[in-house]
Amino acid sequence: MPDRVDSAAEEALATPDAAPAAASVIGVLGAGTMGSGIAQLACRSGAQTLLHDPIPQALQLGLERARDGLHKEAARGRLSAEEAQAAAERLHTVDELGDLAPCELVIEAVPESLDLKHELYRQLSDIVGAECVLATNTSSLLVTAIAAAASRPERVVGMHFFNPAPVMRLLEIVAGEQSSERALALAHATGEAMGKTTIRASDGPGFLVNRCNRPFGLEALRLLQERITEIETIDQICRMEGGFRMGPFELMDLVGVDTGFEISKSFFAQSFGEPRWRPSPISARYVAAGRYGRKSGRGYYDYGGDGATDGKRYRSEDPDSFQSGAPTGGEGVVVIAGDGVLAEQLRSAASEAGYEVRAPHAPTGGVLPALVIDCDCRPEPQRGEPGTSRQGSQADRRGALPSPQGGARLVLCAQGSLATLDPGGSAVGFHVLPPLKQARLVELARSESSSPLAAGRAERFFQALGKHVAWVGDAPGLVLGRIVCQLINESAFALGEGVGGARDIDLGMVLGLSHPRGPFEWADAIGLEHVLAVLESLCEEYREERYRPAPALRRLVQAGRLGRATGAGFFDYPADSA
Ligand code: NAD
Repeated sequence: MPDRVDSAAEEALATPDAAPAAASVIGVLGAGTMGSGIAQLACRSGAQTLLHDPIPQALQLGLERARDGLHKEAARGRLSAEEAQAAAERLHTVDELGDLAPCELVIEAVPESLDLKHELYRQLSDIVGAECVLATNTSSLLVTAIAAAASRPERVVGMHFFNPAPVMRLLEIVAGEQSSERALALAHATGEAMGKTTIRASDGPGFLVNRCNRPFGLEALRLLQERITEIETIDQICRMEGGFRMGPFELMDLVGVDTGFEISKSFFAQSFGEPRWRPSPISARYVAAGRYGRKSGRGYYDYGGDGATDGKRYRSEDPDSFQSGAPTGGEGVVVIAGDGVLAEQLRSAASEAGYEVRAPHAPTGGVLPALVIDCDCRPEPQRGEPGTSRQGSQADRRGALPSPQGGARLVLCAQGSLATLDPGGSAVGFHVLPPLKQARLVELARSESSSPLAAGRAERFFQALGKHVAWVGDAPGLVLGRIVCQLINESAFALGEGVGGARDIDLGMVLGLSHPRGPFEWADAIGLEHVLAVLESLCEEYREERYRPAPALRRLVQAGRLGRATGAGFFDYPADSA
């Protein structure tokens, strides 16, 4: 136990009694990209704001950026001219670190070096008052490690702003191992006064948001490494099928391939080798080649840095929606088997498009179906292999479908790859994630033995439903299913490990990263059995720990909390909202 130097002050820091108000004097250390934005937020929140940077030009530039930001907010009507002026008057630059003495909160945004931060926390500990809270904006160092240099580590917390700080709505409040409730509450209250939606995360690699988003880039790189498809197609699938604003490769180019690679290495090292976080050899090659992304003119895409694109945009526009209004043009009988969410949504979309939809064993009146779609296709158990939960006997399950003589068959690649589900057969594989209505694209996969008839009919079927199609290589979950199921899995691990609550994780991914919906809301919409099936098939196919399903996900399935359709999954749904 350390000596109790100033027990009254320590008590004040540790006692959560009355929730502290937002800080009224805030110091901002470092006037760069993040510091200038944080200073803008601080003075706008009503606090006297003291901005410090040892480099005079950086300090001046940071001050101007913060003032410009306030004027822009006034021009856009977010602040009145008087409010912007008053905020600007509360913002002051200070030349010495010692000038931060009157602060109730100091937010540090200096370069990402543990040695530099340690030096500053040591000095600050002697400068500020006993109750002053020290917050770091680090994105990749442990808050606990930074706090170790402060004389009172319990006063150190993480306030992780997203870039650009004045614009992004999210603020992660990170609790280090020793952070006091009072320090966390003051950071929380100040964040709210700045107009942020705050979420709480525990300390660890990437905290909550950046950790849960790891698979977005890493799984995309694995798909590329396995040559499942190309960079442009992976990105287009994420945008058009998943509703992401940007594909993973566009995003990696924006962040910087070199920066992303450094973050990957740090995750892997900090976790002592977690297989889900293994850096990709592809990023290593791109970094070695100086292909850092937008900033170097070339990364996964060409930005014309070396004149190669002739001034063309780095990628083509996505095609428009297939048709306006409700899709039509479906003709003939389709048989759709399975009782999951996707099967239900396919049945209603096919009926709307004009198909006559039949259940697997319903008589078709002698009409050969145009297409048989099996959404519940499972691998045949190997000879002598005991049945597992995934490999129930074909005869037992509802919707088991023999391939009709000479007919076209389409199988959902959730319980396995096409090669596993239809070895040597004529079927075509497909995958798309619910909600089907919002997906503008469906993925298809074929093997050497897939029939051209099935391929043609599969394309026509989805086009009649108003969807574009993309042919990709074979894998469980194909492209988007694999990326999103791994996002859900990572989030479920984070939930199980207490890194954050389910609502905070969903809020974080939507507000911090502009994901189309939170991972748990998405899991509940897809159906947890579907998500688990993709992960288990990936685990089985690759025999890699990387794909092991999170216990939190498995337990929900075991408890019958299968998602929105069953009234409960990661969240509860009142009876009338299913
Ligand atoms: P930056 O390089 O733009 O700014 C850092 C500033 O700190 C510079 O102006 C520099 O002069 C100043 N500085 C250097 N030594 C200093 C010292 N001893 N005292 C005070 N100031 C000093 O960096 P940034 O992008 O603003 O990042 C700052 C921190 O925020 C890092 O910890 C980073 O991980 C984190 N962060 C960055 C982003 C982002 O997207 N840029 C997002 C979230 C968090």
